[in-house]
Parts: sequence; structure tokens; C-alpha cells
Amino acid sequence: MTKVLGIIGGGQLGMMIAEAAKDMGDQISKIIVLDPTENCPAAQVGAEQIVGDFKDKEAIMDLAKKSDIITYEIESGDSDVLKEAQSFAEINPSPETLRIIQDKFLQKTFLRENKIPVPDFIEINNFSDLQEGLKEFGYPALLKARRDAYDGRGNYKIDSANKIQDAWDYFKGQKLMLERFVPFKMEVSVIASRNTGGQIKSFPLVENIHEENILRQTIAPARTDEQVSKKAEEIANETMNVLKGAGVFGIEMFVTNENEILINEIAPRVHNSGHHTLQSSKTSQFQQHLRAILGLELGDVELIHPTIMYNILGSKGFEGEYAPIEISEKNIFLKMYGKKISKPKRKLGHLNIVAENESIDDLLKKIEVIKEKTVVRPV
Ligand code: AMP
Repeated sequence: MTKVLGIIGGGQLGMMIAEAAKDMGDQISKIIVLDPTENCPAAQVGAEQIVGDFKDKEAIMDLAKKSDIITYEIESGDSDVLKEAQSFAEINPSPETLRIIQDKFLQKTFLRENKIPVPDFIEINNFSDLQEGLKEFGYPALLKARRDAYDGRGNYKIDSANKIQDAWDYFKGQKLMLERFVPFKMEVSVIASRNTGGQIKSFPLVENIHEENILRQTIAPARTDEQVSKKAEEIANETMNVLKGAGVFGIEMFVTNENEILINEIAPRVHNSGHHTLQSSKTSQFQQHLRAILGLELGDVELIHPTIMYNILGSKGFEGEYAPIEISEKNIFLKMYGKKISKPKRKLGHLNIVAENESIDDLLKKIEVIKEKTVVRPV
């Protein structure tokens, strides 16, 4: 029997899930997305849209009544509302998994309790907790908003005592945690998946390069030795084992100079650092996510072609309609997300630069040349 798939969020991730779902006509008959922006990216690829806020209870209930199975592209949904919506539709990952993950403090506490390595952290309830925490962790340390914070927007790096007040004021009344600074040598991630039957599979470890807290480039596979990759992939599998949610999860980690691996953050959804799988692997992370939530056997995760993913971001100091970006070159795959308006750092699209016989270094050189063509400029 085919199912109606509901997706909370119809941005680029919802769009690429919807595209993968369209190819699974034998399983999914219809796709409905909930998104506040009229004609959102997912609607542009044929999903029906309910225009509404991600936290709008009525809109979520409406989506649940119209869907057999619900998933999401954002982690900020209201887990209590989603629990209620479960009486109308199956929700994966479950609202309980979402509740733990969407609060960074609960997430890290859960991981630590399950003996999964994370940086040192403490809960911050008042100004004196912050002062005490800094005495323990020293400088720099990261003050983080526990919820609704991604792409670095919820972090304040406190590098000296005279920044404490500033950091405190920056978050005005939000729930907070303090984390020890990790002088990592590399940021990496694993796109892990677990289906509703408990089968677990992870894509190989990739390396992530951020600029001003936004992912700019993912190198697949990560330039680490095999032992590090193996250890990171084991940590990801162990995380999936204890977390028990169904779907694809993006697990971001730090590799320290001593090759220790610490989890920085888990996203309960398809992840920007998994976009390379659209070309590098037999199964894309979007297909894998659908297979996981539908309870199908998980697909092949082998990395067939080393690939670098390069994000196309809105240029600084410019907001408005932008000139079309066109690239047609062998083994370079451009994916634009159909967003009409550019804003600084907005994710507008990505490139996958796929190796035939080239090395990662060759691909990195290719990016340096092609970059110029991806600069976002006014029409
Ligand atoms: P987050 O939004 O928490 O994933 O953090 C965004 C970025 O801040 C990460 O990709 C890291 O580059 C950096 N960061 C976060 N936590 C730490 C930490 N404990 N130590 C060092 N850098 C961090």
C-alpha cells in the first residue's frame, strides 16, 4: 500500500527528500510539506504545500491528518505537539528522540550517560554558574543556547574575563550551557541511519570545512587515517544504537590532535554534509532517510566516487534577486534550491565535484577555479 508522506519544512532538505520520494512511487503516492514561505523549494518540485509555521499546532495537525507518515527537515518542531499528532500519523524520528536532540544540553547529557565521548559541559542557570564554569574550563570556552541554534548562531566564544557580561547579555533569558573549548585539528561527520526495524548503516566519514560557522565544503572521504575513520564510524553506530530513532542523522564530531573523537552535535535529519551522496554513492542520504522511516532494507553506503561538496552561499552585503548561476562541466553537478532572494550566507545551492580518477588534491584545485562562477551577484 502506498503512503502519503508529510514533511515539516520545505527548504532545500525537504526539497531533496521530496525528489527522492518521487522516485519511490511504489511506496509513496503523495508528498505534502508544511512551510511558511509560499512556493517553498519543496513545492517547486511537486510537493503539495500547507503554508504555515513549523510550530503552528493547527497546521501540524492538519498535516498529520492528511499524511500516513511524517518526517522533518528541521529540528525545532514542538515535540509535545508532534506527540499529539502521532495519533493521526506515524512520526519518524519519533517526537521523543527529537525532544532529546533538539536541546543541546539534554543531547549531550544523554550521550555522556551512554558513555559516548563529548566535550566537557555544564548547565548554566544563572550568572554565577557561568563564572564558576569558566573557572573550571578556563578560556576560551563556549556559551551555547540549548535550543533553536544552528550554523553557529547560538554560540558565544568567551575568550577572556571581560567578555563574560557580553556573552551573558547576548543570550538574554535563553536556556544555556557552557562547553570546554576543543582545539580540534579537523571537523568531521558521519551520516548515520537506522530503520524502523533497527538496522543501522553509516556512510563513510567526511571532513567538513566551515567559514564563519557555516559549512562551506565537505570532503568525502575525510583525509584521516583509517583508524580515525573507523573509530568515528563506530561512535556513530553506537550513537544510533542508543538513540533508537528511525531515519538519517547527521553526527558532527571533532578530531583532536591526539586523534580523540568527540561528538559536537547530532542533527535528527538529513544533513548538509551528506549532500555529496547524491553523486558519490549508490544510495543518497535522502533515499536512505526514506528507506529508514518506511522500514525498508537500508541501501548501499559505499563511497564509490571521492567527491567534494561546495556550498553556494549568499554574498555578504547583498540582499535581493541574483543572477542565475550556470555551470556545465563534466563531473561537476550543480544543484540550486530555487530560492529567489539571496541574503548574506543564505544557502542557495551546492556543487558536487566528483572524481573519476583524480585525487582529493586535484578536486580541491578544481574548486579554486570554479568558485568564481558561483559568486552570487545581483541580477
Ligand atoms: P555548533 O553550532 O554548536 O555546531 O557549533 C558551530 C561551530 O562552532 C562548530 O562547527 C565548531 O567549529 C565550533 N565549536 C562548537 N563547539 C565547540 C567546542 N566545544 N570547541 C571548539 N569549537 C567549537
